[in-house]
Amino acid sequence: MRTWEANVRKVTPYTPGEQPNKPKMIKLNTNENPYPPAPGVQAALKEFDADCLRLYPDPAASVLVEALAAYHKVKPEQVFVGVGSDDVLAIAFMTFFNSKKPILFPDISYSFYPVWAEEFQIPYETPALDADFRIRTEDYLRENGGVIFPNPNAPTSLAMPLSEVKKIVRGNPDVVVIVDEAYVDFGADSALELVQQYDNLLIVRTFSKSRSMAGIRIGYAIGSPMLIKYMNDVKYSFNSYTMNQVTLRLGVESIKDDAYFRETVEKIISTREHAKEVLGQMGFSFPDSKSNFLFITHPEYQAKELFEALKKEDIYVRYFSLPKIDNYLRVTIGTEAQMETFYEFLRTYADKER
Ligand SMILES: *Cc1c(COP(=O)(O)O)cnc(C)c1O
Repeated sequence: MRTWEANVRKVTPYTPGEQPNKPKMIKLNTNENPYPPAPGVQAALKEFDADCLRLYPDPAASVLVEALAAYHKVKPEQVFVGVGSDDVLAIAFMTFFNSKKPILFPDISYSFYPVWAEEFQIPYETPALDADFRIRTEDYLRENGGVIFPNPNAPTSLAMPLSEVKKIVRGNPDVVVIVDEAYVDFGADSALELVQQYDNLLIVRTFSKSRSMAGIRIGYAIGSPMLIKYMNDVKYSFNSYTMNQVTLRLGVESIKDDAYFRETVEKIISTREHAKEVLGQMGFSFPDSKSNFLFITHPEYQAKELFEALKKEDIYVRYFSLPKIDNYLRVTIGTEAQMETFYEFLRTYADKER
């Protein structure tokens, strides 16, 4: 070991899902949206005048902040935008989780949380989900340095009712509670209405899933003006110009077309409900998803083998080699046609296994 290595901040990085790029692949592994962004996004991109790129973007990202504030009926001072919700969450961890007491998040959850905790040297504890993969509210009502959980949770797909979220927020007046609502548009209750009442509650959202824009990198947070101010202070002490001109313009276009947004989300929900029937009939079981993915297991198959077999056919799903969930696959809801190909594969697989 070199001497300087003793002073290196060492972290075990987050492992993102594979991003293969094959012409005919069916990509159901990173919860992207199979439908294109709103037509206005494409139109704005075509009209975009590159001359404006000479100039730095607005560091406050005002056009996007204002569009989001109007959309969610909150004040612009209650909105923070970042480079995907990963950026927003990292800033939130840095800003709010500075207690010596451990922060709390579920043992089975978004696997980036422990990575940020390590990176920012935040102590943490991970209360276990119950046997049905549910978050146990009472586990979050003890002394802690902050709370974060996704609702719906990932990769389990289960949503918590608003009444339970409210119990956690109400029970933690002395710390910041973050609800990561990456998948909330697919049928769960949002805790957004609670931000007016609880100034320590931060809601985090993303354009990556329900808005079909994972490639542009937009995430945002909504909370009290105080929380947002503290996040902005940290952001401006780190990197002021996080949102580029193109992103700001296209983000606003997406927000404008609410009809398209709703239509896309409805299509995915309907495909998901159909997938529950088809997969159920094939003997798979899964929590009752309120997200754009299903977390499936089968009594006769090894998840890892099925994952590999699918991959050979260029059908990508996500497998986590982790305790308690290593016989599950997380399958993103694709188009009806993509899902049909997936079911077809499973029928053939079942015949071979027999
Ligand atoms: C996908 C996801 C994110 C991050 O999404 P971005 O693409 O960075 O906006 C955050 N939290 C959860 C739970 C997710 O599934």
